[in-house]
Amino acid sequence: MTTTIQATATAVGGKRRQLTIEDYAAGILARDRAMLARAITLVESTRAADQDLARRLLQRLVPETGKSQRIGITGVPGVGKSTTIDQLGMNLIDEGHRVAVLAVDPTSRRTGGSILGDKTRMQRLSQSPSAYIRPSPTSGTLGGVTRRTRETMSLVEAAGFDVVIVETVGVGQSETAVAEMVDFFLVLLLAGGGDDLQGIKKGIVELADMIAINKADGDNVDRATKAAAEYQGALNILTPVTPSWHPPVVTISGRENLGLDQLWERIAEHRRIMLATGELESRRSRQAVTWMREMLSDRLMERLMATPAIADALPRLEDAVRGGRMTAAYAVEELLSLGSSPAQAAPPSRAGPRC
Ligand code: GDP
Repeated sequence: MTTTIQATATAVGGKRRQLTIEDYAAGILARDRAMLARAITLVESTRAADQDLARRLLQRLVPETGKSQRIGITGVPGVGKSTTIDQLGMNLIDEGHRVAVLAVDPTSRRTGGSILGDKTRMQRLSQSPSAYIRPSPTSGTLGGVTRRTRETMSLVEAAGFDVVIVETVGVGQSETAVAEMVDFFLVLLLAGGGDDLQGIKKGIVELADMIAINKADGDNVDRATKAAAEYQGALNILTPVTPSWHPPVVTISGRENLGLDQLWERIAEHRRIMLATGELESRRSRQAVTWMREMLSDRLMERLMATPAIADALPRLEDAVRGGRMTAAYAVEELLSLGSSPAQAAPPSRAGPRC
């Protein structure tokens, strides 16, 4: 009896009441920030029940998503990402946009909190009712962090944010992961001391839709302009990803708000072209299918690793491969045969938690 009363009281109290998908959806569509935050928490949760609810909520919101301009921004710490996003975001809000800033930082678990998306780094934007800043999800692999960020992007889109900026420091494969979830990928660089072109990370040029040399202010303007010309030269010898867009190199000062209008105009121009050629649609479709396949392979891997026979055999087989006594291909074959042995192929309902 007491339990019932307590449960009811909690429900009436509101906060802990189990929300339905319709509660979440209605709140998000009404642009209720608290509900948006709760939905993001759901998406980030590792509990199976939460994940199931999150999946159904996202499916429910499909018609309301995909309407934003998705911009990825990368650059080493100190290049000026937060300063630039803060200023660019405020400029966009002045023009009537609503701006969400998300982050992909697979190292955030190790540092005990996200170094990206931290509200204190974007002071003006974090106080604006037209902005929503969410730090990187803090747990799991890059795949897990990527999934949560992508799903959060859908939620903020449904909540009416029409520009979504996804920031990354480019640890490991995180730049590729972010480039794979946006319409436009911007690389921020600094003018170095003559060795600029060496400073650029291998592969990043291929991902960039634009390079911006930041901190082009004060004494640094000449160096930044020179660096921009060098990068432009380097980009020109590469075959562009699409004949309809040759990635430009621009100079900006995030701190002094110099060149940001021109930068945004180039992003808008890219969008106009990609819409006209149909490449925006095909880029997004390709990204969605790639994502589906990645998720499928992650889930299959999780399932395999949850199979006791495989978990038991793995250390022995890894040891054999490490010691050169067994080929990787042979070990994989043996693992897969364990995964599909009749004992393991029991229906999920009987196998219980083992599957
Ligand atoms: P992040 O680590 O990439 O987010 O970089 P921050 O935005 O935190 O900037 C790092 C440092 O560079 C801070 O001290 C900023 O004030 C400074 N900074 C950022 N943008 C500019 C700029 O456009 N010009 C100059 N001179 N300094 C800048």
